[in-house]
Amino acid sequence: MIKVAVVGASGRMGATVCEAVSQQEDMELVARLDSGDSIDEQSLAGAEVTVDFTVPAVAFDTVSAALRAGSHSVVGTTGWTPEKYEQITRVAEQAGKNVLIAPNFALSAVLTMKFAELAAPYFDSAEIIEMHHPNKVDAPSGTAIATAGAISAGRAGKPVPDATESDPEGARGAKYEGVPVHAVRLRGLNAHQEVLFGNPGEQLVLRTDCFDRESFMPGVMLACRKVGGLAGLTIGLDKVMGL
Ligand code: NAD
Repeated sequence: MIKVAVVGASGRMGATVCEAVSQQEDMELVARLDSGDSIDEQSLAGAEVTVDFTVPAVAFDTVSAALRAGSHSVVGTTGWTPEKYEQITRVAEQAGKNVLIAPNFALSAVLTMKFAELAAPYFDSAEIIEMHHPNKVDAPSGTAIATAGAISAGRAGKPVPDATESDPEGARGAKYEGVPVHAVRLRGLNAHQEVLFGNPGEQLVLRTDCFDRESFMPGVMLACRKVGGLAGLTIGLDKVMGL
């Protein structure tokens, strides 16, 4: 049995993780902590893994506390910077524990990025359409930016064919590393992305649809099972998917 604690347990993601952990035959939910609770050996109640879905402003401190209290960490909270990655690596080293930080726990999204990277060298054209609910405050999504980066690396600087000479309103989308990215905000949607690849006479479309928070749970559970076997800091769920 893997003993799991959840920090941010009263939040939308945290509550969903608590439920998912409770349903696993090889896991035991030993602590639900939220704002105002101290994170220490006693409150973590022997947790081998602590899952963190808090808020960007506190995540460095909550994850550090869990590591220092002797627990590996699986982190979904966003807002990490290269400096924070460096600092948390040192905390993990000092504690002798591992931390896995994944900007996206949805298996379909992670696989889409990997497939896009694989396809990129073989197509002339590549464009991304990301589609989200209208309450999302940033555009484009972090996943779209990461996907554009993966495609760009695969294309080795090859420009996307495009004869557009006039586009005063930016109808051709934003360009990330030369890859056009189009953001749709539509009532009724959750989190979706299409990657379009084109060659003369053929098209490849990759599509991921995350309909609700459940979509993240298989990825979070996988991370809980794998984090003990990693070393120090690992960024991205793909690292534990054997890709
Ligand atoms: P939320 O606001 O519903 O929940 C956050 C919870 O953290 C709240 O219950 C809050 O009380 C708690 N919290 C705040 N400060 C705390 C502290 N010091 N100690 C303990 N708990 C504290 O937010 P959410 O929708 O559940 O999202 C949480 C985070 O997860 C966000 O950063 C979000 O962007 C991210 N997220 C990541 C993924 C992924 O796949 N990586 C998926 C969805 C959301």
